[in-house]
Amino acid sequence: MLLTITTTYRPATDLGYLLHKHPDRCQTFPLSFGQAHVFYSEASVEQCTSVLMLEVDPVGLIRSRTGSAGRERPLEQYVNDRPYVASSFLSVAIAQVFSSALSGKCKDRPELVTTAIPLTVHLPVLPCHAGEDFLRQLFEPLGYQITTQPLPLDSTFSDWGHSSYFSVKLQHTIRLSELLSHLYVLIPVLDNEKHYWVGNEEVNKLLRYGSGWLNTHPVCEQITDRYLKRQRYLTRLALAQLSEEDIADPDTTDVIQAQEEAEIEQKICLNQQRLETVVAALKQREAKRVVDLGCGEGKLLQLLLKDPNFEQIAGMDVSQRALEIAQERLEHEYATLAQRLSRLQLFQGSLTYRDERLCGYDAATLIEVIEHLDLNRLTLLERVVFEFAHPKTVIVTTPNVEYNVRFEGLPAGKLRHRDHRFEWTRAEFESWGHSIAERFGYNVEFYGIGASDPEVGSPTQMGVFS
Ligand code: SAH
Repeated sequence: MLLTITTTYRPATDLGYLLHKHPDRCQTFPLSFGQAHVFYSEASVEQCTSVLMLEVDPVGLIRSRTGSAGRERPLEQYVNDRPYVASSFLSVAIAQVFSSALSGKCKDRPELVTTAIPLTVHLPVLPCHAGEDFLRQLFEPLGYQITTQPLPLDSTFSDWGHSSYFSVKLQHTIRLSELLSHLYVLIPVLDNEKHYWVGNEEVNKLLRYGSGWLNTHPVCEQITDRYLKRQRYLTRLALAQLSEEDIADPDTTDVIQAQEEAEIEQKICLNQQRLETVVAALKQREAKRVVDLGCGEGKLLQLLLKDPNFEQIAGMDVSQRALEIAQERLEHEYATLAQRLSRLQLFQGSLTYRDERLCGYDAATLIEVIEHLDLNRLTLLERVVFEFAHPKTVIVTTPNVEYNVRFEGLPAGKLRHRDHRFEWTRAEFESWGHSIAERFGYNVEFYGIGASDPEVGSPTQMGVFS
């Protein structure tokens, strides 16, 4: 089973950085169902092709199998298509072997991760029992150009006609991480022959890798249905692999620190007041489609979801860990997956990169986020939010540093959170707000949140740009 990924981006060998696999090396990765090899069949400045080759061991699969034996005919256990076709095993291999690329991480070349580059994927044997039209329905709405070649049922008997397997080429100018998540979800969807119900963990995987594209996909329901119903013994093995997937987590500290900040501010229940004030401001401006930027653990999203005035809600954060916590929190707000997919979207991204996913909302909120960016990166955020995404309303909250003297337990001169790069006085925030409004064509109004002190003002300050 093969997957090849080719780019003509210059220098094409940058593909090696994105995949975290050196073009000069051939590497082998043990998997519970066999092994994966990664090598490059070409690596020049003009064109570079990375090959992921899977060796699935069908006998090993049978030996390691537990429960539900004996459903298939005896020979089928040993003689089947699994070692030869792109299936959920390939998704597992992508998640394991290209895990950093899939989650859009690249320490050495971070700018590459957010760059759409010309990519061609070749899947020499893709099962598609639902027919070629379905294959097109899956990939064309995502912008792929598709070339298919049906494979003969038996090359010695051409009059037997075509099989339901295709050789497929997909071409697109796209970020590699997006392309990998499309493959990750859609390959098992195509190979739907033996699906049945699977558990929560798979729902989470679907939501994570479907984030940013699945809920707007025209055949979202079919994809979701087919993806979640897979449950053969092979799939269980594959899913066990997935749940062991090791995602390095540099974000845990951020979550802990956010809790510390919450404790300092807790006495006045500031957090709740802040969120309620923001929700009221959004409603007053009749925002129906809201994206919460730097959504953290999703506290604002939770309030928005409870309110039917908000029709489309999205949360974006740079921290995968925070998003996972948000997802768990928000799961309780929904009865069904279908509901969740249609109204809420969570996705990982950075506010310092221009991002089309941020466009088309009535309002964007930045709740206690700007102070987490170095001032030189804040200028990037300003353009990303106010110039490129340019929603009608932007709501920004940030600490009022003047108020810090009123917090017990906060030593003089210290900021409220270890990760805060700055905290502004009211005059500093207002002067920043006015300059933004002038540069990007907004009006701005300022408010205090939390009980106002005659000398130092309110603990939180809010700017509403419209
Ligand atoms: N808005 C949330 C979280 C505030 S903490 C709340 O009010 O509870 C700040 C959040 O900003 C963190 O979750 C952090 O991961 C996120 N963040 C920091 N830099 C970011 C960036 N460049 N892009 C997106 N999110 C970022």
